[in-house]
Parts: sequence; structure tokens; C-alpha cells
Amino acid sequence: MADQCLFCRIASGEIPATIIAQSARCVAFRDINPQAPVHALVIPREHVTSLNTLTDGGLFGEMSLLAAQVAKDAGVAESGWRLVANTGHDGGQSVFHVHVHVLGGRPLRWPPG
Ligand code: 5GP
Ligand code: ZN
Repeated sequence: MADQCLFCRIASGEIPATIIAQSARCVAFRDINPQAPVHALVIPREHVTSLNTLTDGGLFGEMSLLAAQVAKDAGVAESGWRLVANTGHDGGQSVFHVHVHVLGGRPLRWPPG
């Protein structure tokens, strides 16, 4: 755990969040500033800064599977949803603990801004 990392502190329960799903190595919780009717974040419990430094493909697979479970549980699997991994400054990453966004519940535009 990185002491000052917001998402490490959420994963450990030190900072509260609305946890909606969990797996052995990952946690899913509601985004505090939702951009769609369904907006959750999926993070690994262990600290990894971004996709640039993630070396464990199995961990990313587990994040993706939990994201799909969140979409199913939220009832948007059939209507459609989006998995987003903002990476680095130009990618729009603001929290440097790797995470994926699960967005759905409305039509999502493409390309993104
Ligand atoms: P990024 O911009 O790094 O891809 O996404 C970070 C996300 O974390 C943002 O969508 C932001 O709303 C969310 N976020 C930031 N601080 C908190 C927090 O304290 N709690 C929760 N649940 N989400 C947060
Ligand atoms: Zn962290």
C-alpha cells in the first residue's frame, strides 16, 4: 500500500466509498463524481501506478471481469457500457493508482473529448 494513495486508502477501508463488488484482488466502487447513470471504478487492492507500469496481465483480466460483473449487476450489460482506463496526463488520469471506469446507462459519444 502506498500511504498517501487515495485508492489504496479506499481499498483498505480507511476512506469510505460505496463498494459494489469485490473479487480476490480487486474492488469496485461508485465514482464520487458520476459522468453517467452507471459510473463505477474497479481497482486492484495492490498499488500499481497506471497501465504503464502494470505487468500482471492476470490482474488486468480480473479487473475486466469484475467490471463486466458490475455492468451486469447494474443492468446495462445488454444496453451497452464502456470500459475506460485513462492513462497519464494526456489520457486524463487524475488518480495514479491504476483503475478502470465502468460507464453506462446512457448513449456514450465517440470519439471522446
Ligand atoms: P481518472 O481521472 O484518474 O481516470 O479517474 C479518477 C476518478 O476517481 C474520477 O472519476 C473521480 O471522480 C474519482 N474519484 C476521485 N476521488 C474520489 C473519491 O474520494 N471517492 C470516489 N468514490 N471516487 C473518487
Ligand atoms: Zn494506490
